[in-house]
Amino acid sequence: MLDDEIANLREAREAWCESCPSADIPVARHCQRDWDSPRLKIAHASLIDQSPDDSERARILAVSAPESGHWLQALPSRAIGTILDPSSLRIAICLRLGSRICVPHTCVCGKDVDRLGRHGLSCSRSAGRMFRHGTINDLVRRALATVSVPAVLEPVGMTRDDGKRPDGATLVPWKLGRTLVWDATCVDTFAQSHIQGTRIQAGAAADQAQILKRRKYSSLLNDYEFAALAVETLGPWSADMKSFMGALSARLVDTTGDPRAGAYLCQRISLAIQRGNAASVMGSMPQADLLEGVFSL
Ligand SMILES: [Zn+2]
Repeated sequence: MLDDEIANLREAREAWCESCPSADIPVARHCQRDWDSPRLKIAHASLIDQSPDDSERARILAVSAPESGHWLQALPSRAIGTILDPSSLRIAICLRLGSRICVPHTCVCGKDVDRLGRHGLSCSRSAGRMFRHGTINDLVRRALATVSVPAVLEPVGMTRDDGKRPDGATLVPWKLGRTLVWDATCVDTFAQSHIQGTRIQAGAAADQAQILKRRKYSSLLNDYEFAALAVETLGPWSADMKSFMGALSARLVDTTGDPRAGAYLCQRISLAIQRGNAASVMGSMPQADLLEGVFSL
């Protein structure tokens, strides 16, 4: 059909150009995505500009990172452990949308928790930290085993500058003939120590954690392939994490023949973060039997 045969085409094109003044008319005019993308970018930028405070700005940036939404792609199945219990699901959605999670209360550590419930994510007594950390390391170890790269957690005889051991190491070479050594961490997107970075750039807290990890492992960097597997509570990954997961995912696909094998691993890591977040948020509250009905549903 010729352009002049389509009713209101000129008006529609003018309206689109008016709403996207700096964008060019899509070359592939049949492609809906090409028409939508410029408008979505403008709407996204507007959301960030209109953020009422640093935390909201950091939230929008963080949840916009592709890796932050992996858990949303997981097929919820109890049989394979990819289903979130109702409470964890509610908290994961509230954190992502920035909606209220609970009524204000005092954390078990003595600090105030507002209705957004984010304090628990960085609380010194965070209940989900160990679970999240342990699960990510176990998922990485098992994925490596799948691609015939056996690994051990907390390897003996391998210490960083302060005497502590890394989270894991492979028993055979991973890249360029060098053994992989990794250390995982999950830092809070909203923490006061990170908010000045995360309000500007998604993943800034994870990248900062990566820098600190690399500094602590400087004595191992010459002899080993080191990966700082840093993630954030809201989902973004550090550069090391992205690079490592890209390589591991490619090998998983090659080994299993399943083109989605890498995606499944990413989803499980993302789910582990959500479960850890939920445990951290819930952990900021007194025992359930002492505070019945604390949630504002
Ligand atoms: Zn606390």
